[in-house]
Amino acid sequence: MKPRYLNYRSKLEKFLPEHILTELEYIGKLSARLGFNTYLVGGIVRDMVLGKKNLDIDLIVEGDALELARAYAKEKKVPCHTFEEFMTAQITLKTGEKIDLATARKETYTHPGAYPKVEKATIKEDLYRRDFTINTLAVELTEGRFGILVDYFNGLKDIKDRMVRILHQLSFIEDPIRILRALRFAGRLGFRLGRPTEKLLKLAVDENMLELAPTGRVNLELTYTFNEEKVIDILFLMNKYRVLHSLIPEFYMDEKREELLSRLRDTIISFEMFLELKVDRVSNYLMALLYHLPFELSYKFLEKYHFSKTIKFFEEYYEIKDLLEKIPEKDSDLYKKIKFIKKDLLVYICASSPVELAERIIRILKKEGERQLLISGKDLKELGIPPSPIYRKILDDVFKKYLDDEIKSKKEALEYLKKQYLGG
Ligand code: ATP
Ligand code: MG
Repeated sequence: MKPRYLNYRSKLEKFLPEHILTELEYIGKLSARLGFNTYLVGGIVRDMVLGKKNLDIDLIVEGDALELARAYAKEKKVPCHTFEEFMTAQITLKTGEKIDLATARKETYTHPGAYPKVEKATIKEDLYRRDFTINTLAVELTEGRFGILVDYFNGLKDIKDRMVRILHQLSFIEDPIRILRALRFAGRLGFRLGRPTEKLLKLAVDENMLELAPTGRVNLELTYTFNEEKVIDILFLMNKYRVLHSLIPEFYMDEKREELLSRLRDTIISFEMFLELKVDRVSNYLMALLYHLPFELSYKFLEKYHFSKTIKFFEEYYEIKDLLEKIPEKDSDLYKKIKFIKKDLLVYICASSPVELAERIIRILKKEGERQLLISGKDLKELGIPPSPIYRKILDDVFKKYLDDEIKSKKEALEYLKKQYLGG
């Protein structure tokens, strides 16, 4: 098959920051001088065609990536790490961005799911070993051909048709992790699976190929999935194609779980926006997926796939979950119950509780975040209250009233303090 060549220079110029473009041109010149051909490949090219931001720069060198990386690093006096065994290198630009380089290679698989054996090859062979056609586009950087898009496997058409397609029949058997990746890309980009690809994926799932994938790689793929913006779409696809059942035989999806997942997504967004914290999405989504199972079964799954942090999360959840069996009426009393619970667990508690309770908890946590702004030890000092351990009690007292809406602002807090502690 002859590749399609298209001039993507101006697209590249629009897509990449100018200083990076300049460095890529420089690398292209060096490459020509050394007699190599160098290409920008992978996700960044796909995302450029889609107009989606991406700055993960991966280069493939027909020739020797290590030699090119070393030459660049020497001339530009920047750091360079080389990994001889893998024929890869990483350079850091003066401006801090990292560029990964790899010698074009082909891979042979000793058995399904194994890490492949690697040997030197052409760019075409390198692209052929990839997972999906949408990831096989390359833009040449070599001087004289800078900006030429090389499309051997109809990647451009598949991106335009919004299709995820494997490159050959045995793809999912060779590397079952691609089952997970196919659904992750389909969910993330809103793409469909090509017909044959869909059929082969189903076959591979039915044949339990995922069972053969290294558990560490499954962990990594699931972790990526839970951190995707479109995580729910991906999980629905994983349910549709029985991938979740394949990983967790006792798994089932029902309306309740669908609702829980979408509540969870919204709750995570609320916590991250209003409370400015990074939520442990992996543990929360795994909880939502596994909670209906007996703990022993969840535990078996979590242990098998090395989710050790999530095992702790589950254990802590089981310890505190009865705490909220009876919900106190006053927010200050509710606060007493939740203040020792980890925020990540509160995310799950909110997502799985009635909306009204979830909203109360978020309101309380927001107020907790504002506690310092309301009244501080400094304010007490300025009011002339002599510093002593009583400060803690006074501050707690004011905050309690703030939680119960008896005090609504700093002004009201100061008035209350004067009346209560300074006799008017
Ligand atoms: P992302 O935006 O998620 O980083 P990406 O396409 O860059 O998407 P990576 O996981 O960073 O994906 O992998 C880089 C490239 O390596 C991919 O574009 C793909 O061509 C190739 N690749 C990754 N994993 C596999 C795999 N299991 N089988 C074949 N090729 C793979
Ligand atoms: Mg990437």
